[in-house]
Amino acid sequence: MDLKQYISEVKDWPIEGVNFKDITTIMDNGEAYRYATDQIVEYAKDKNVDVVVGPEARGFIIGCPVSYAMGIGFAPVRKEGKLPREVIRYEYDLEYGSNVLTMHKDAIKPGQRVLITDDLLATGGTIEATIKLVEQLGGVVAGIAFIIDLKYLNGMEKLEGYDVLSLVSYD
Ligand code: 5GP
Repeated sequence: MDLKQYISEVKDWPIEGVNFKDITTIMDNGEAYRYATDQIVEYAKDKNVDVVVGPEARGFIIGCPVSYAMGIGFAPVRKEGKLPREVIRYEYDLEYGSNVLTMHKDAIKPGQRVLITDDLLATGGTIEATIKLVEQLGGVVAGIAFIIDLKYLNGMEKLEGYDVLSLVSYD
């Protein structure tokens, strides 16, 4: 299946100059959503994964059906103030200002193998922060899976040494 045909491109959204890749048109097609999920499950199946981790909100959309299909748990990465129990936090720089992501302290046990999922790799800041949180908890990143890689933003450079899958790329 050519997944790219199910991705919508929205010019100048959310700000001028950005050509936003909208994956809701994958999700609202049962076959395309299942195909994308199955591709990631196939990629992860020999990696001995214990838990799937994804950053809010679109990392949930990709990661939860994968964790369901694999019969393993899903642990959310969320913005500060959203998780109710004790968290660890990681702060990272954005083009303007900074952002904080958090995870529950007991979401991963030391040595557990983790599959990280998100919809899209742009500059890599979000996924790098997610990796740091997983590794702070003693998790081992067994793989990282995206639907989309925006190659021209060079996010892959931040993921050197990790095993990465992306289903669709834009040059
Ligand atoms: P990064 O941190 O790699 O620069 O940005 C990736 C994050 O921003 C992902 O969590 C993703 O959901 C969101 N994002 C940035 N640009 C887009 C886009 O064009 N389409 C979608 N669907 N998400 C985007």
